Amino acid sequence: MKNSGVGHRRRGRTRLGFTLLEMTIVLFLIGITAAIAIPKLSQSAEQGKSRACATDQEALRAALESYHAAHGSYPNGTDAQAIIAALQNDGAIGEVACPSGGQWEISLQYGSGQTGAAGENPLDDTATVRCTVHGELYGTQIHPDANGE
Ligand SMILES: [Zn+2]
Repeated sequence: MKNSGVGHRRRGRTRLGFTLLEMTIVLFLIGITAAIAIPKLSQSAEQGKSRACATDQEALRAALESYHAAHGSYPNGTDAQAIIAALQNDGAIGEVACPSGGQWEISLQYGSGQTGAAGENPLDDTATVRCTVHGELYGTQIHPDANGE
């Protein structure tokens, strides 16, 4: 029985299967690939959410502008939810939600300096839309031509 056992034959050149070293190398390469791919996948997912948020911010800006054009001032409201509700009641916009769960922040500035009432020159009125997760994704001045005064 000496030198004729299974253990001896396994060390021959015609063995089947993988050695521990080969398995280690394969698992190492899989790990490297995953380490490179997974952050890129989650990064592009986050970029998609950011783009979707920017689209909603643009939609909010456009709705504020069209509301302003129709009514001569922005909707009354103490917070973004009330302002958005007023826009929705007016049919200016549907549901808008940041895909990352950010809350909307809307800042309305009236040309004469007061907030919550129409300024003397409606073109001086500006609205800023941002989200608590992504911030302000574009230069979101509603009336960019009125900034210079
Ligand atoms: Zn957002």
